[in-house]
Amino acid sequence: MPSPKKSARSLLGSLVQWIDTDYSVEPPEVVRALPDGVNWVRCIPFVILHAGCLGVIWAGWSWFAVWVAIALYFIRMFAVTGIYHRYFSHKTYSTSRFGQFLLALLGATCVQRGALWWAYHHRHHHQHSDEPEDAHSPHVHGFWWSHIGWITSRRNFPTDYSKIRDLAKYPELVFLNRFDILVPVLFAIALFAGGNYLGHAFPALHTSGAQLLTWGFFISTTALFHGTSCINSLAHLMGGRRFETSDDSRNSFILSLITLGEGWHNNHHRYMSATRQGFYWWEIDITYYLLKGLSLTGFIWNLKAVPESIYQEAAQRHHQDTIARFSMSSVQHEIDTLRRVVPTAAAIALATVNSAEVVAQKKADGPAIHRNVAGLVVGDQPPASAPKSEA
Ligand SMILES: [Zn+2]
Ligand SMILES: [Zn+2]
Repeated sequence: MPSPKKSARSLLGSLVQWIDTDYSVEPPEVVRALPDGVNWVRCIPFVILHAGCLGVIWAGWSWFAVWVAIALYFIRMFAVTGIYHRYFSHKTYSTSRFGQFLLALLGATCVQRGALWWAYHHRHHHQHSDEPEDAHSPHVHGFWWSHIGWITSRRNFPTDYSKIRDLAKYPELVFLNRFDILVPVLFAIALFAGGNYLGHAFPALHTSGAQLLTWGFFISTTALFHGTSCINSLAHLMGGRRFETSDDSRNSFILSLITLGEGWHNNHHRYMSATRQGFYWWEIDITYYLLKGLSLTGFIWNLKAVPESIYQEAAQRHHQDTIARFSMSSVQHEIDTLRRVVPTAAAIALATVNSAEVVAQKKADGPAIHRNVAGLVVGDQPPASAPKSEA
């Protein structure tokens, strides 16, 4: 049982961390070694994000506000997948230092903490995927913990800068990561101010500051969080597996649509350095198309391709799967044929041995042969009356 003084310090520390995420009463390595458990005080801002959706009761709705929410969902989903994931976590393309800062700013509007915190935890996920150390494996911790619980756990709050030295050497990125509430608050204020202005300047839009704050910030951001979280939870549970990776990552078309291409998670776990996660043209990967378009402007460059050896491995796997499927289907076909032939053969045999006399005796019950065959088809023993007819 912690002393009241220690509890008060811990409470105060959690409140300071709302603003300064690198502040810690205890050394970060001690915090990271703690057992999992929800820190409610620390995650009150996260609770407020969800509760803010209820603002719709007072703010109401308009088509304009709904479209703003949808647009901000997809623009920022691109920021999560194309920036936090494919740039900061995996460096699958290059940009300038200023470009990198702009990318981090756009990523920060997603309210998924700083780029460095995100990249640190994601790289850790790849190192320990679906093992006990994995902070958000649905196989180790269950669905809800992998989907939402893990980010409320005290041990997962600090960023381990020593594991992301390639990013931590940029003070501007560390600043955005340390004060990760700054950009979201400014973003929310901008939406409120923008809504107020539009409500007055263009009354036909039927919108207001409260509406854009509710729809553009709270609802859109909450949906964005859960859309992204589906990759931590569902992408290790539903879909097919092209590659035999050591984890249980999956490829899912549905998840790819709501996350702009992240649903090809098994592909990604097999080869995480490629910019594209849909390895073939039919694997829709909107994030990749947008990054490809952005590369034409010169803002980003050096997009990394999927190596030929990975395509060969995929082809080999596909070939083996086809053989296995074909083998199974031909075996199944033979079994089906046998099931059809056996009753027919039995019927012919029975018809041969059944005497006309017995058939005549049993005429009132229908042909004995039909009853016998019916018994064979369902796998029952022939009816007790059948041997009698042979006597
Ligand atoms: Zn994964
Ligand atoms: Zn990844």
